[in-house]
Amino acid sequence: MSQRDYNLFVIGAGSGGVRAARVSAAHGAKVAIAEEYRIGGTCVIRGCVPKKLLVYGAHFAEDLVDARRFGWHVQDAKFDWPTLRDNVLAEVTRLSGLYTQTLQNNKVTMLEGRAVVTGPHSVRVGDKEITADTILIATGARPHVPDSPGCEHGITSNEAFHLEKLPKRMLISGGGYIANEFAGVFNEFGVKVTLINRSDTILRGYDAQIRDRLLQISMAKGIQFLFNSPIDKVVKEPSGALTVHMPGGPVECDALMFATGRVPNTKGLGLESAGVKVDEKGAVAVDDQNRSTCPSIYAVGDVTNRVQLTPVAIREGQAFADTIFGNKPTKVDYNCIPSAVFSHPPLAGVGLTEGEARNAFGAVKVYAADFRPMKNVLANRNERALYKVIVDEASEKIVGAHMIGPDAPEILQVLAIAVKAGLRKSQLDEVVAVHPTMAEELVLLK
Ligand code: NDP
Repeated sequence: MSQRDYNLFVIGAGSGGVRAARVSAAHGAKVAIAEEYRIGGTCVIRGCVPKKLLVYGAHFAEDLVDARRFGWHVQDAKFDWPTLRDNVLAEVTRLSGLYTQTLQNNKVTMLEGRAVVTGPHSVRVGDKEITADTILIATGARPHVPDSPGCEHGITSNEAFHLEKLPKRMLISGGGYIANEFAGVFNEFGVKVTLINRSDTILRGYDAQIRDRLLQISMAKGIQFLFNSPIDKVVKEPSGALTVHMPGGPVECDALMFATGRVPNTKGLGLESAGVKVDEKGAVAVDDQNRSTCPSIYAVGDVTNRVQLTPVAIREGQAFADTIFGNKPTKVDYNCIPSAVFSHPPLAGVGLTEGEARNAFGAVKVYAADFRPMKNVLANRNERALYKVIVDEASEKIVGAHMIGPDAPEILQVLAIAVKAGLRKSQLDEVVAVHPTMAEELVLLK
């Protein structure tokens, strides 16, 4: 029996930390978890979950317009931001409560407050010194804000969920996941949105044709894009407006939101006291068993800056618990991780992009369906979906799949099984279509 207070002390009650804590406890470990903000972490409190609810809310703007073509007379449809905001925040509170309950049910001790590592087997929470055989760092990441003068006048996605009222004009800095998702949401709510990025592209890493389709549709919806536009400075005007200075000239807005990546939360965590090394971005360096350079300290999730996605953090937390306390050594398989952007319309991808596949295999076949979904046709909505399946010519295996269009993330999740399983294109062809659906295009690709 250990002489220390706990077998496991987890710092951070987000997706990775909560999974690791509750599974370790279920394996019989005595576990404590410390959280300085709210149980649930980024995904539940100020990320995936409230964002997706805002995306649902925003979609009604288009549905209400389309409804007329389907015979519905919708009168006096008005959007009320405080109603949606407060309902979303209430749902977040409910979910945070469920996470808390799960920890309680598994007899995990919860400590409110900031935990700091004081040695290989010790942490301090407030004025309490606590010892543990193993420490898990699961502190996640926070939004990066550029350090140009005046950038402190901007907000991040953290604050976007709490806005008192919607701004008339919003600049969103960044061209990644968060920038495109929030640009879609606020644009549907009637905010005049301009997305500005330092480079000449959006969503680096996604298939070029899919990104281009999102750009075209977003512009048609009224979102403006300014590329090659790093921010030189931001000036707060006496009126309260912000003037954002960029090489192409200044632009005035009522709110500036930064979505310029996320940085690991390791500052002030005391990691040096235990010899835990961090990389140049501040991420905890770990091996394939999630172990840091200190043998008793592990890390999972965004704080390790491997793949910043909730389901990956959860797998890492599970693998950690099974390996250390479940007597079942497990490694996370990072190959073929599907991902999605909940833009308007959403897009999703798995495996290699067309460009990556050409580099990797030389000869590839690209099968594509470029079509206007049935609902969009009747609605007179001129938005085309695009599905791409990338096949290695030599093995005929599907090495990548990418799509943009209504429900693309839902459809891609299922197709990802085929890609992960290494199926051949001919095996998609063997499947009979479910008609009429959008997904049937995947088994009809020529
Ligand atoms: P991303 O990494 O997706 O995008 C960051 C954007 O900001 C890029 O366009 C990049 O430009 C730009 N950028 C990066 N650094 C700077 C800088 N120093 N100054 C100015 N611009 C900069 O980050 P997000 O903030 O959008 O999201 C963070 C992470 O959260 C994502 O990587 C993702 O893993 C996760 N996430 C996942 C979601 C999902 O699964 N649907 C939703 C939201 C977040 P460029 O690359 O063009 O040079």
